[in-house]
Amino acid sequence: MKVVIPHMGHLDIACRGALRNVGIDVVSPPRASNVSLKLGAKYSPELACLPFKINLGNFIDAINGGAKTIMTAGGCGPCRFGYYSILQERILQDMGYSFEMIRADEPDKLANLAKTLKEASGINSKFAAYKTVYFIWRRAHFLDKIIKWSDFIRPRTTEKGRLTRLCDEAFKMVDAASSLKELRAAAKKIKKSLKDIRIDKNKKPIRIGIVGEMFMVIEPFANMGIERKLGDLGAEVERGVWLSRWMNDRFHFNPFQRNHMKVAKRIARPYLKYHAGGESIVTIGKTIKFAKRGFDGVVHIKPFSCMPELVAQMILTKPLMSTLPR
Ligand code: SF4
Repeated sequence: MKVVIPHMGHLDIACRGALRNVGIDVVSPPRASNVSLKLGAKYSPELACLPFKINLGNFIDAINGGAKTIMTAGGCGPCRFGYYSILQERILQDMGYSFEMIRADEPDKLANLAKTLKEASGINSKFAAYKTVYFIWRRAHFLDKIIKWSDFIRPRTTEKGRLTRLCDEAFKMVDAASSLKELRAAAKKIKKSLKDIRIDKNKKPIRIGIVGEMFMVIEPFANMGIERKLGDLGAEVERGVWLSRWMNDRFHFNPFQRNHMKVAKRIARPYLKYHAGGESIVTIGKTIKFAKRGFDGVVHIKPFSCMPELVAQMILTKPLMSTLPR
């Protein structure tokens, strides 16, 4: 079975090698562009948030390219993400497209992800479904590591072009790995090649944290490649949001890794007591953490009409800023 997974950073690469093992062939739609965004925006409700419009453009491109099945996530509140896929499905049907949409209705729950996988792939074994989600996490974890290494090296090297090429090759190697053994072998090679890049160990670049809505932070088209641009300008960037961390906070694949969501919630409590949706509480908690760790600045990325990040923005610009160390 061939399915399309919308772009969100390297989500498609994390899923492809794992889903291949259960007979699902993940096809990546063309990378989002201004043309596909315009198309997505044209058919979206005006006040839908930017990720909705980018995703819809992705889906239109994919279906025009022959895709018949879309795999995505649903959910329930507190933000609008939960009903996105239903609305997108109706819009695409109204446009006359015929396709099937497979949706994980509770993507926060491992059992629900496994159930969706079982239904989509036709496998009978629960164990195989859980193993597949675990392998997706391992792949996402390693892809995130590559980005972390690159964010560290970029401001310290003059070989920026080579670093970009090596990272692109590294992503391809992860994409090709179909088992944990192959992933480990790829990891070894990637580490070795990145170590080859000459860096100035004495350089102390300014440090910038990036916080905000998850899609905006991890999808380079949505954030205009801010991570790489800041690195090229000589800043060491650290994300406050990672796909693999999001998964581990919920599914506890690595019980020894701290639950970043819980920590952020605890730190943010004096300013925001309740989960307002999206990454709002993480945005507050991580900003405080970055400030306490002596970062030089934080960039908060939010899409237009995103309620949770608007809540965070109000707190960041007023009560919080006056209390942070300078
Ligand atoms: S967090 Fe914001 S941008 Fe993301 S889906 Fe919810 S409302 Fe939209």
